Amino acid sequence: MLLYDNRIIEREQARIDVEDRAYQFGDGVYEVIRVYGGQPFHLKEHLDRFQRSAREVRLSLPYPLEQLEEHLFELMRRTGLQEGNLYLQVSRGTAPRTHAFPAQARPLIIAYTQPSARPLKEQNQGICAVTTEDIRWLRCDIKSLNLLGAVLAKQKAADQGCQEAILIRDGIVTEGSSTNIFIVKDGTVWTHPADHLILHGITRDITLQLAAVLQISARTEAFDSAALFDADECFMTSTTMEICPIIKVDGQTIGTGSPGPVTRRLQEAFQKLIS
Ligand code: PMP
Repeated sequence: MLLYDNRIIEREQARIDVEDRAYQFGDGVYEVIRVYGGQPFHLKEHLDRFQRSAREVRLSLPYPLEQLEEHLFELMRRTGLQEGNLYLQVSRGTAPRTHAFPAQARPLIIAYTQPSARPLKEQNQGICAVTTEDIRWLRCDIKSLNLLGAVLAKQKAADQGCQEAILIRDGIVTEGSSTNIFIVKDGTVWTHPADHLILHGITRDITLQLAAVLQISARTEAFDSAALFDADECFMTSTTMEICPIIKVDGQTIGTGSPGPVTRRLQEAFQKLIS
């Protein structure tokens, strides 16, 4: 069952044209929203970012956000999703293939739900990552459907038996292929500023707010790969991974090689938010 434009239909009934611009150009934007106990987590922030991403690529949504929100609740109700993810995207629509915007095409929104358990093992034990050059475009703040840079980076991690690729641009750690990256040094948490080089992660924001509440000092300043390898702790954040320790990068242990105390405090505070 999925949301197709403004109707909820069976997945088998959905029809995507070969000239859908998402299919041919990656011309669209998306969101992934976590659902806990049947409730979408920070839905407003996700819908606002969805609208902003669309606006930044000059795509107008086919109907208002309030209506989209109603459709999403209806979708969650009809699919009975309790624990899992809600995927949402909008394409610029279908039109004869030419790069410039089509004069007449109705943007197509689709959304569907996917049950999935929280990644507790990864959160408890930590994961390993690899570093790789950040070869993506210069508008990483837009949650675009063009994900080849992320796909290639994630595959490099998978090839080495790791779960994430940490992206490095001009020596600076920007973010992960599908996560934001934090380090902890001498009790201070560092993460890249929310500019055009990273996605403004909603979990990143929540984590910074939790740090403030816990009186953990935090700096949204760029740091280089030497600082990453020299960090006491490292962790990544995302809607699906929440706050997840990174204990090894390129085969090198970070800190003690097990999830650190600052990461643990933030994870515990995050856990309280969702329970
Ligand atoms: N950076 C990138 C490149 C991502 O794809 C994601 C996942 N949406 C994130 C960061 C984390 O963002 P959020 O916490 O909003 O899921």
